[in-house]
Amino acid sequence: MSNTENTNQFNKMKIGLIDADLIGQKQHNFPNLALMKISGYFKNNGYETELIHYDEINPNCLFQKYFDKVFISKVFTNTKIPENILKLDFVEFGGTGFFYDKSPNLPDEIEHHFPDYNLYNNWIKEKIRKGKKEDYFKYYTDFSIGFTTRGCFRQCEFCVNRNEKKVYPHSPLSEFIDKNRKKICLLDDNILGCGKYWEQIFKELQATKKPFQYKQGMDIRILSEKKAKILAESKYEGDYIFAFDNIKDKNLIEKKLQLFKKYMPTTVPKLYVFCAFDRNNIWNDQFWYNDLIDIFERLKLLMQYKSLPYLMRFEKWDKNNFKFIYTLLSSWCNCPAIFKKMSFRQHCGNNKYIIRFEKQYPEIALKYFDMKFGEIY
Ligand code: SF4
Repeated sequence: MSNTENTNQFNKMKIGLIDADLIGQKQHNFPNLALMKISGYFKNNGYETELIHYDEINPNCLFQKYFDKVFISKVFTNTKIPENILKLDFVEFGGTGFFYDKSPNLPDEIEHHFPDYNLYNNWIKEKIRKGKKEDYFKYYTDFSIGFTTRGCFRQCEFCVNRNEKKVYPHSPLSEFIDKNRKKICLLDDNILGCGKYWEQIFKELQATKKPFQYKQGMDIRILSEKKAKILAESKYEGDYIFAFDNIKDKNLIEKKLQLFKKYMPTTVPKLYVFCAFDRNNIWNDQFWYNDLIDIFERLKLLMQYKSLPYLMRFEKWDKNNFKFIYTLLSSWCNCPAIFKKMSFRQHCGNNKYIIRFEKQYPEIALKYFDMKFGEIY
């Protein structure tokens, strides 16, 4: 049956939805909010919607089904898509994975529509039947998901928000909170930077009595006494996540970690440690050498304040002779159980690349390889 023949005219119109990251990324386990909103909108307007795979619209595939329209969304730029699919006339595609900072917004009536939290149900059932643990799907089943604010004022050159100039309120909680879901996941880019609204938003979140989290990280550089107090009083879900993107902020971040610990002395915050991005766009050997030192310096400060790192590598991280170190740093930093117990040297064991690196750069190894979480003062 051809997709161009409308043999479906007496039935409900059918919309196919493809979550490209779900298909193309190995470790991906987060629902696509845009697709859930599209699904919610079309269902509300009398259409049938279904989460599908490329095969189901591929003209060369036996399993091809009929759809009036198909939407493909992706968040990650490195997610691969079969080229021929995007050329089909009933297919529309969007998301930061396709257009990065130039990604068009969804029309308002869809962007502000209640998400269809049932979109992934069949896919989840099938995965569980094949042996995946239910807990793996917690973001699909337990969380209401949305943006209380959007935008940022920092304009970091590597960020998808680099064209934004401010933080502004986006969705009221009623727009996306499902009363049957136990928890709330917020995807805001810089909630603490939302001028006079951040406090009101936190108060409304607290009033739901549900645990909530700001999953994309918060801007610790603008943490204040009032903000730290409200965070401490909140029913926060999971780690308090912040960002430590630039070594230049070291002194400021140190003060803010002290402030955080004043209100939450036993809580271990997590900070994204962005690396492998040359702000001068030169990418020579000296940059990579300095970048490693920048990373270790940030890790040192985090260890000192009993805070965890999460290493975020810019896409060029493997375009240099140190790529093995970035891999080892990532496996060390991004596993809290290892990072809390072992120094970098212990984590690497007798790795031949590390032994060679130490001979070449003894000053780095001497200064940083034996640092341990909680043992730096
Ligand atoms: S502070 Fe964060 S969200 Fe804002 S522009 Fe920089 S990286 Fe993006």
